[in-house]
Amino acid sequence: MKIAILRLGSVDSEVVERVKSGLSKVFPTTECVILDEVMLVPRDAYNVIRRQYHSTSLLMKIREYVKKSGSDHVLGITNVDLYVPRLNFVFGEAEYLGGAAIISLCRLRPEFYGRPVNRELFIERSVKEAVHELGHTLGLDHCRDSSCVMFFSNSILDTDRKNVGFCEKCSSLVMARSGRT
Ligand code: ZN
Ligand code: ZN
Repeated sequence: MKIAILRLGSVDSEVVERVKSGLSKVFPTTECVILDEVMLVPRDAYNVIRRQYHSTSLLMKIREYVKKSGSDHVLGITNVDLYVPRLNFVFGEAEYLGGAAIISLCRLRPEFYGRPVNRELFIERSVKEAVHELGHTLGLDHCRDSSCVMFFSNSILDTDRKNVGFCEKCSSLVMARSGRT
């Protein structure tokens, strides 16, 4: 399985590198690359009333990079805040059994919640959200195990509670679907 990371706008390079190595660890038979090209965050996805970007619109644009990069999955990483119509925000979104996924770093920084800067915590959250969204691209649903990375994060507390890896059940699905026999 090949995963390409696509930056949407300028993104902290350490975070991108750490997400890459995190993905390589969790998906062991996977090749993970960072694309040289940086996508400009499309203005037409911006909602002036919400002051957020429509996640699904970005996902559709990221999808174009799947073929272009010769990857199975493309993970977009952006700083902008994302939404889907019926939710206040999303940490990320992915095509179920598809090529494209996206995560937003906006709400992963402790500073967003008025907490002190904590790079390690910020990076750990970024890796968890990246793994979670790529899990969806492999066809994984949300998991009921609150320590599994596929548990739905309603708030950052859920993200902090869960592990960076999959529970046993989800792990066997990942192994089967990422091409490992
Ligand atoms: Zn999810
Ligand atoms: Zn699970």
